[in-house]
Amino acid sequence: MGSVLERRLDAIYAIGGGPGANRPGYSAAEDEAHRLVTGWMHEAGLEVEVDPNGNLVGRRTGLEPGLPEVWSGSHLDSVPRGGRFDGPLGVLGALEAIDRLGRRRRTLGVVAFRDEERGCAGSHARVARGGLPGAWVELHHEQGPRLALAGAPLGVVTAIVGYKRAERVLEGRAGHAGTTPMDARDDALVRAAAEILRIRDVARGIDGAVATVGCLEVEPGGVNVIPGRVRLTIDARAPDDERLARLLDGLGIDPAGAVPPTSLGGPPADALRAAVAERGLPVVELASGAGHDAGVLARAGVTSAMLFVRAQNAGVSHSPDELSSPEDVALAVDVLTDALDRLASS
Ligand SMILES: [Zn+2]
Repeated sequence: MGSVLERRLDAIYAIGGGPGANRPGYSAAEDEAHRLVTGWMHEAGLEVEVDPNGNLVGRRTGLEPGLPEVWSGSHLDSVPRGGRFDGPLGVLGALEAIDRLGRRRRTLGVVAFRDEERGCAGSHARVARGGLPGAWVELHHEQGPRLALAGAPLGVVTAIVGYKRAERVLEGRAGHAGTTPMDARDDALVRAAAEILRIRDVARGIDGAVATVGCLEVEPGGVNVIPGRVRLTIDARAPDDERLARLLDGLGIDPAGAVPPTSLGGPPADALRAAVAERGLPVVELASGAGHDAGVLARAGVTSAMLFVRAQNAGVSHSPDELSSPEDVALAVDVLTDALDRLASS
């Protein structure tokens, strides 16, 4: 791990001693990560501000400070036993990019939002407080296998999926596992098994949609008792309104209260596409299946885009096995630097 960025990723990953990253939002470990990054922001000559919710902003004032600002960053908190890249890559990549760029026409900002993993608390608070930039670009680990499957080191994120979570109860009839013949049973778990396969097939039939049954409660839950009742959860996600509506309809889920998909784009996405294409790389566009601070800012009216960097190890994330190669990370920072240059010089 030779580069400054790789060493800084290691320093943040080492907080708390592991295994994995353990920096919950507003914990002492997240505070420590913010202290480290604050020091690096000062080294880069940025003006550092901490807002009342603890979000960290390092700014380099532009030649025309009245123009809307251009910000890039991510978060420094982590899930328990998380990976090295999720969050810190976006903050440290932005810091390196802005360090390279020096002063531009517009003010450039590096941001570390607080407490992203449990629902983007920091960016929500910032949005409620105001003082938002004109553009946001977030570099992030892909957290999935699609770029690796496409053979592309980088991807431009065009949407953040919308989703709905629901519960379903399947009723059967509990009975004796030894004395009830197979053709005289109404086994709720067998019904649930068929329903889980149907849920999978509905999602498979819609490009870009996913649906997951993650929790199952079997009653009465005895080793020698035919299940009488099963409760299951469904997490359903799709990249645009039309596909989310089709998915929920197919799954028989009431669309009321669904979190709508967020489309990303505008000048930040154009700048990323141009910077990727200039390097002779394929311009792969994809939707993010996970929520991000970029989605919060986009819904607040900030033109926002994300750059995903290819994940190794079959795309695993929220795990110590989370990995992107130093070469892909270096490429991502080059592209981010170019994109921020275009946005801040315009
Ligand atoms: Zn993240």
